[in-house]
Amino acid sequence: TENLEIENVIIGSGYGGAVVALRLAESGHEVTILEMGLNWEKSGEKFSPMISPGKSAAWLRTKTIAPFFNIFNTKKYTGTLDRWDFSNIKIWMGRGVGGGSLVNGGMAVLPKKDYFGEVFPELNTEEFYGKYFPLAEKELEVNSADESFLENCSFYKFNKVGEQEAHKAGFKTVRVPNVYDFKYMEDEYENKVPRSALAGEVIYGNNYGKKSLDKTYLKKAQETGKVHIHDLHKVESITKGLENTYILEVIQTNTLGETIAKKKIICKKLFLCAGTMGTLELLLKSSNDNKLTLNSEVGQNWGNNGNFMTGRNFVKTFSGGTGVNHSTIPVGGIDNWDDKEHPFFSEIAPLPMGMDVATSLYLMINPVPKKGSVFFNPISKKIDLQWSAENVALARTNAEYFIKKMNKVNGGTRAHLLFNNGFGADICYHPLGGAVLGKATDMMGRLKGSENLYIIDGSLIPGTIGVNPFLTITALAEYCIEHIISEDY
Ligand code: FAD
Repeated sequence: TENLEIENVIIGSGYGGAVVALRLAESGHEVTILEMGLNWEKSGEKFSPMISPGKSAAWLRTKTIAPFFNIFNTKKYTGTLDRWDFSNIKIWMGRGVGGGSLVNGGMAVLPKKDYFGEVFPELNTEEFYGKYFPLAEKELEVNSADESFLENCSFYKFNKVGEQEAHKAGFKTVRVPNVYDFKYMEDEYENKVPRSALAGEVIYGNNYGKKSLDKTYLKKAQETGKVHIHDLHKVESITKGLENTYILEVIQTNTLGETIAKKKIICKKLFLCAGTMGTLELLLKSSNDNKLTLNSEVGQNWGNNGNFMTGRNFVKTFSGGTGVNHSTIPVGGIDNWDDKEHPFFSEIAPLPMGMDVATSLYLMINPVPKKGSVFFNPISKKIDLQWSAENVALARTNAEYFIKKMNKVNGGTRAHLLFNNGFGADICYHPLGGAVLGKATDMMGRLKGSENLYIIDGSLIPGTIGVNPFLTITALAEYCIEHIISEDY
């Protein structure tokens, strides 16, 4: 085992980790990021499209794990997409330098101002909407598609049909901004550049077009010369050291997941940015195994952001189908949030199967009135969830209402041909909470009861934010690290 002493360590290179790294480096501090996934850019490996999964498809598995494309065998490799299965829910996550930004749909959605205020009553809403959200949008390079491009691009028929059908059923739709460069996509469409979104790439990584974190925050951070990213480095546990330091047990692996070195790292300041599930597992495991002291709020107020995947088959009567080719990048949302009885926001999702399957897919985001919790299971030696049908009751009622209303005026059936008879209550892309801002941490992400230990990722958000969450995670990280730098350094 190698012993190392490092001032500032960040665990994880997703949204929280990337923001912390850039801002610490800009203010003159050396920073080390430990990331269990691969540095894809450095490796020279290519990402693979959904219909021909390659190395990037799955995290150390021999079968693919995307929600629909489960028929493929694959070779064991440190791929970009991981999934953790619990009894009533499956949680998908990104792995690699850039975290979730490598695999996600790039939707950069501003939460409703009122709801943000409700979720975070102690934060200054005006300051967030005037300063931290615009800053996050600028750094993430958020942009919107040109309306005439969307109107004429055959790869967006699924969205056009989705919007028309929603309007016919009396729902309101909104245009959703994204970090995918739409000017690049226009060039793809005209065959001027290699295709990515128009070639079925997204959930196993995009080779072009998408401004994932390795192209934005992390690139800028590395340009300072002060940020050192160690990929294929997994933190196994945290122990409290002398004088409020932390000792990390780290394994370095190869791309087969085999351990090639063990390291012990002592750090003065520790930033836990391993994503909601990664951060909670590290904290709860270290508390169980190494007596790391935690406050009782850790593990509480966890939620799935009301994720509910649903769909409709035989979308033909009115529209003639959803199109042969789908861009993988969503641009439309159905906004029913202000309906008191059935509040939801839904992404009009692509289903790039390479043929017209006349199926509409929706990722609904619902409020989460009843939160779950996360705990350490000493038998499996892993974290476990308290999460049941009760927690998704509102989401299910909303989905029933939505599908019924859509089918009544547009024709079609519930998507029995997809997953779980078309009701994916157990599909979660947005795990949030468990180390909530102002509860488990103070108002700046410092873990209560622990010095020099900071939590900056999705676990700060109490289980719900009403829209896709990465813009909010980024804005919260900007706010936290600004205060931490001015007060703790
Ligand atoms: P993450 O981005 O998850 O980063 C955490 C990093 O820590 C990972 O790279 C992980 O490998 C690393 N890590 C974990 N444990 C350890 C350890 N022990 N040692 C070392 N490293 C570790 N959100 C949106 O807003 N818009 C979308 O369009 C969207 N689409 C999505 C589509 C999919 C398929 C998925 C899975 C998610 C999607 N999301 C979307 C959600 C979004 O990607 C996440 O909310 C976001 O990435 C969470 O950011 P984070 O900073 O909390 O952590």
